[in-house]
Amino acid sequence: MRIFDPHIHMTSRTTDDYERMAAAGVRAVVEPAFWLGQPRTSAASFVDYFDSLIGWEPFRAGQFGVRHHATIALNPKEANDPRCRPVLDLLPRYLDKDAVVAVGEIGYDSMTPEEDEAFAAQLALAMAHDLPALVHTPHRDKARGVERTLAVVAESGIDPGRVVVDHLNEVTVKLVRDTGCWLGFSIYPDTKMTALRMVELLREYGTDRMLVNSAADWGRSDPLLTRATGEAMLKAGFGDDDVDRVLWRNPVEFYGQSGRLDLTDLEDPAAVDPQTGNSILRGGS
Ligand SMILES: [Zn+2]
Repeated sequence: MRIFDPHIHMTSRTTDDYERMAAAGVRAVVEPAFWLGQPRTSAASFVDYFDSLIGWEPFRAGQFGVRHHATIALNPKEANDPRCRPVLDLLPRYLDKDAVVAVGEIGYDSMTPEEDEAFAAQLALAMAHDLPALVHTPHRDKARGVERTLAVVAESGIDPGRVVVDHLNEVTVKLVRDTGCWLGFSIYPDTKMTALRMVELLREYGTDRMLVNSAADWGRSDPLLTRATGEAMLKAGFGDDDVDRVLWRNPVEFYGQSGRLDLTDLEDPAAVDPQTGNSILRGGS
């Protein structure tokens, strides 16, 4: 089973996790910039964090044979802190980096006017830099949060096929299904979405545009729940090809739209161009 975790915060994880993930089949990850728990007091603090997401963390992942890419943004929660707002001006320089495959995570936490503004500004940045967008949805008041999220996405003019709306569940999946956006699901150890509930959703809605992630971070979470979902799928009668689609080909297709996903030496050797030895996936091709 080859696994691409499209949303995991490895900064908060140990090398034991990298080791166990690699052994479980996780070959590639995308790490979105997010809130670290301790509020940051200046934009300079984000500079060091962003630099580690595109420098130190890919190096650390590489030690375990895991390919690491990042998404960069001012997260929804800290968009409310005036001390962090100047981060918006720092983003363009990061969005030009090869290791950055999307703008994210953006979206709503408490649905404040400040969040509205940062969300819209960062969707505009995604379009200006020709990047997909990873959109977090609030854990409280979820349905209203997703409705408002979809309205902002539609208003921005971004191609919905370049947006993933994340942290969905049985209620909110219905709101996103027909919008053309990708659907993200975070599998948690004991709350919110579980592997078994995920399998039911895949039965009901199919595997098209479905992304499954562990969203593992500094809270209660488990980086192996992508693998657990793949196994639950097989047990429920899905085939190997369905599992490969959800856990590998879908995230590759979504983030491949950045034109920057580098999976050289990770994919089937047949996928590598024999002329150049290059398997960097370009968007739209
Ligand atoms: Zn996250």
